[in-house]
Amino acid sequence: MNGREFKDFYKILGIDQNASDAEIKKAFHKLARKYHPDANKGDKESETKFKKISEAYEVLHNPEKRKQYDMGRQYFSSGGFRPGADFEWPFGTEGGGFESFSDIFDLFGFGSKGKRQDSYRGNDLHYKVKLSFDSALKGRETEIKARVKDTCPTCSGSGAKPGTGPTTCKHCGGRGVIAQSQGIFSLSRTCPSCMGSGKVIETPCSQCSGSGIVGHDKKIRVKIPAGVEDSQTIKFRGHGEPGIKGGPPGDLYITTEVIPHPVFIRNGSNILLDLPISFSEAALGAKLEVLTTNGVVNLKVPAGTTSGKIFRLRGKGAPKLHSSSNGDLLVKVKITPPKKLNRRQKTLLQELGEFNDNLRHDLHKKTKK
Ligand SMILES: [Zn+2]
Ligand SMILES: [Zn+2]
Repeated sequence: MNGREFKDFYKILGIDQNASDAEIKKAFHKLARKYHPDANKGDKESETKFKKISEAYEVLHNPEKRKQYDMGRQYFSSGGFRPGADFEWPFGTEGGGFESFSDIFDLFGFGSKGKRQDSYRGNDLHYKVKLSFDSALKGRETEIKARVKDTCPTCSGSGAKPGTGPTTCKHCGGRGVIAQSQGIFSLSRTCPSCMGSGKVIETPCSQCSGSGIVGHDKKIRVKIPAGVEDSQTIKFRGHGEPGIKGGPPGDLYITTEVIPHPVFIRNGSNILLDLPISFSEAALGAKLEVLTTNGVVNLKVPAGTTSGKIFRLRGKGAPKLHSSSNGDLLVKVKITPPKKLNRRQKTLLQELGEFNDNLRHDLHKKTKK
């Protein structure tokens, strides 16, 4: 029954709800001329529109049908219908079929078909979990202590004291609905005594006071997968609150908070690392040992490497979520002068410096131009 909604025939014809018969006719003829299939050959949109107009006219130009439609419409707009309930507006079903009014209210959830829902899905749970940088890479088991609603174990959810059972509701005779006459049609509504279940509990279960539901603490263990990132929400299907009276369980949603690492920076499945190198390593080239998140790897820095150059170590980054492959480690080298120089270092560097004088020569020349 999804996908159908209340059809406002007045709106479709573009008229006021107090429109006279003549006005209804006039509006219909005007729109019908515009959207008639003969005038719009092959245009699907016009065809649909024409159908809607005809449907609206068929009801509104008939005084009896219009009267009934107006009553239903009023009921609808007054919010008399349960929100979220599936319903079908039988006016203007394919072919313009007109059903009895009691059927309409059945479909709106008022009728005898309206049964109390006994079992229902457990609620979803939402938690935040703090992870170290390393746990986010490797994955980690986590235990969540949640207060959840569950089917009462004493009465198995019936709400009746063990050994007793629910009895038929006297108010509605077990039908769950009571009929009320309103004007030209009869309207049935949910029995207030049994809330539509048709049954009442005379001796309630002492553990759940007749509700059939109890709250209890539950430990939920789940494994956070390897490769999660900060502020990521992971869904654990079926790990939420238990379903009530045989209903399916809800889901658990865990949002991660990953503690930043002092050295490594995550960028998706890649990891960034700033690596200090000496001037001589940069100038002469060097084989460096780089500490990654997963052991030591060798990095060959070629002679003449400039500061800021990025070396990509493939597959040495973070695991890709739900995949067997890894991202890359991006090593950005930074030529770093020694913090303290001894006499010998100073002398050597001064000597070296004599060769460095022309470094900015080209730059100056180009700037002057
Ligand atoms: Zn109980
Ligand atoms: Zn009842």
